Amino acid sequence: MRQFEYQRVSTTSDASQAAAHHGSAFIAGGTNLLDLMKLEIETPIKLVDITRLELQQIETLEDGGLRIGTLVTNSDLAAHPAVIANYPVLSRALLAGASGQLRNKATTGGNLLQRTRCYYFYQTDSACNKREPDSGCPAIEGENRALAILGTSDSCIAQHPSDMAVAMRLLDATIETQKANGDTRSITIKDFYRLPEDSPHKENVLEPGELITHVTLPAPLKGMHTYDKVRDRASYAFALVSCAAVIDKDETGKLTTVRLAFGGIGTEPWRDEAAEACLVGTMGDKDAINKAADTLLKDAKGSGQNDFKIVLTRRVLKQIIERACSTQGA
Ligand SMILES: Cc1cc2nc3c(=O)[nH]c(=O)nc-3n(C[C@H](O)[C@H](O)[C@H](O)COP(=O)(O)OP(=O)(O)OC[C@H]3O[C@@H](n4cnc5c(N)ncnc54)[C@H](O)[C@@H]3O)c2cc1C
Repeated sequence: MRQFEYQRVSTTSDASQAAAHHGSAFIAGGTNLLDLMKLEIETPIKLVDITRLELQQIETLEDGGLRIGTLVTNSDLAAHPAVIANYPVLSRALLAGASGQLRNKATTGGNLLQRTRCYYFYQTDSACNKREPDSGCPAIEGENRALAILGTSDSCIAQHPSDMAVAMRLLDATIETQKANGDTRSITIKDFYRLPEDSPHKENVLEPGELITHVTLPAPLKGMHTYDKVRDRASYAFALVSCAAVIDKDETGKLTTVRLAFGGIGTEPWRDEAAEACLVGTMGDKDAINKAADTLLKDAKGSGQNDFKIVLTRRVLKQIIERACSTQGA
């Protein structure tokens, strides 16, 4: 690990100012950043420790929504009574990720910003456009079983690894930040991540020194909440394909709400409102499911080893819609 300066801060403005200079990084739970530093994939010259900031609270908002401090751990968020009662999809997504020990350290902001698990990103003797811009992407013709089929480019096919972010995308979360100049802003999660295009090292819209302070969830959604995660092992493995869903229907069985967000298949947490619209107002029949899957996957591109994800995603979508349609009260 390279040497670095360390600064612990106690206010959000100190934090964003301290990290304003190029080469600085915030450290929260450290469960991703420290691994990357040990491998010298990330080499910050200064670490700004934000763990003492007063950002560990979860507040209920007037509209029934939630405002989550960035330092709320994944364990505390999953176990919070309001999350279990009103946002079970989020609780389930969190509990499907990592291990208990990691979730006790991992934070809300850190989870959103965790880096990809692409093999070549970690393999420092390989080229990788995300790690080293313009060096190439051996994954496209190499080991790509775990990698993305949607949102990819000729420069990068690395998947976004987070489970929590998939549920946040489904729920239309908003990310609140504080910039180094003291300004604050709210960014919808839809606008937060960047597709790789020809700059895969730029993964989100944050500026240097911009601190995530909170994540806000709109009022809860009625209906069946589920998070299905297909992976190589039953626990402690990243998603091959995952799907967060909230589905509601009327007394005749007609689907009135369909929200679907996917993990493991996109270069960012993936949601396609046009695919959802194919199911709203239907009885969730085979034709509607096929139309939704065709819409979702129309631009999907396998790279060889990960071609199976196209078929698997269809199956996961079908399984969830059929379950919602056959579940009483969903
Ligand atoms: C073995 C293993 C298995 C895992 N399995 C899964 C899994 O199945 N599913 C899953 O979703 N995740 C999994 N993870 C990843 C884990 O969830 C993340 O490492 C964790 O959520 C990161 O949170 P952290 O607080 O530790 O972030 P850190 O490591 O502290 O930081 C991560 C990044 O976020 C930045 N950052 C942190 N907080 C802020 C902030 N407030 N504002 C701006 N920038 C910030 C840091 O600078 C850094 O770039 C796994 C990790 C490991 C090691």
